[in-house]
Amino acid sequence: MTPPPRVFGRGGRHGQGAERGNLPPAPAAAPTPSSTTTGPEDDRLGLYVHVPFCVSKCAYCGFYSLPGATGQVSAFLARLGSEVRQRLTPDLAARVGTVFIGGGNPTSLGPADFGTLLQTLTDVLGGSPIGEWTIETNPETWSRDLLPLVRGLPGLRLSLGLQRLRDEEIAWLGRAGTAAQGRQAVEAALEATPNVGIDLILGVPELPSPARDLGTFVAALPVRHVSAYFLSLEEDTPYAAWVEAGRRADPDAAGPEDLFEVAEALAAAGFEHYEISNFARPGSRCRHNLGYWHQQDYLGLGPAAVGTFEMVRRANPGSLAGWLAGEPPATEELTGATRQREFLMLRLRLLQEGLDLEEFTRRFGPPSPALTAALSREVAAGRLIRDGSRYRLSAAGLPLANQVIAGLF
Ligand code: SF4
Repeated sequence: MTPPPRVFGRGGRHGQGAERGNLPPAPAAAPTPSSTTTGPEDDRLGLYVHVPFCVSKCAYCGFYSLPGATGQVSAFLARLGSEVRQRLTPDLAARVGTVFIGGGNPTSLGPADFGTLLQTLTDVLGGSPIGEWTIETNPETWSRDLLPLVRGLPGLRLSLGLQRLRDEEIAWLGRAGTAAQGRQAVEAALEATPNVGIDLILGVPELPSPARDLGTFVAALPVRHVSAYFLSLEEDTPYAAWVEAGRRADPDAAGPEDLFEVAEALAAAGFEHYEISNFARPGSRCRHNLGYWHQQDYLGLGPAAVGTFEMVRRANPGSLAGWLAGEPPATEELTGATRQREFLMLRLRLLQEGLDLEEFTRRFGPPSPALTAALSREVAAGRLIRDGSRYRLSAAGLPLANQVIAGLF
């Protein structure tokens, strides 16, 4: 992570919004623990399933994904089946409200194996009150052969990793595929559900903002959701080596302008900027990711998947081999101090909802004098807006989000 103020949404995508590197950096000092810490105010569970395969590896990618590992798909599906049956007991399955299948690229499995994965999940979740299924996919692996598999899933969202809307920009990132493939994939996805989203990468110093093409794109193809995360430099990636060799500029040098331009283009098209890096047409916010931002419990299945359940964060082994071999997960008991800190960080990311001090008090006890003083200071500085018990980032505070959040501790 990069220190404030520039970074307020790097990393991104791949479903585990609160856990996969798109948070502002955690502050060094912990807030005072409270004696009245409670869990979230809703007992629905999220379910995240990580599919660790991709057709090829993007040059900037730091996610756990294996390109072309087709020889391991059968073992993956068999182990996932065991994990699903073991972890999703009937009591827990009955609480699952959202499912997010991410990766990697889940549809790189191909229709037959992807169908097996869905069957494995629906066998166990058949009676669950699921209101939303999200499936991540990339244009090169989204085909009409998948339509019969996904059409009946309740609340289906398809999230397409386009990243850029022009061929030369996709190639500059060291990513496979073309802009035309992206448009065709969106068209095919819209045959399955009206609830289609796209992901974009911002903050590439040599490239213009994708905003210049976005208005035309969303006018022609009625997507309902856009996630826009800043490129981050990940260790041991080809992109990091290019930066080291002077072939690419360091993305940390990029300012926030791309996000403002994208926000402007999407606002003109009727989208709401509901989270720092996420935009939706009214009624089309991602419920699963809102669960992360609201600190709902969720289970993570598959290699490298993370979950949080009853104040324990659990991370599955970070490699396919370790997970297949049954290595135990890493677990961390969350303290009240950690949950308070996460509450403040996550709620201020929600630009319209913001941070509600009444909810904070119900869950953690009264805010400390230091916290209320810091909030008042940020309001006086014009970086937060106060509306009753709620505090929201102002337009001036948005590019300084990390700084504002760090100042609350
Ligand atoms: S498609 Fe996503 S997970 Fe796969 S290599 Fe590219 S960035 Fe990484």
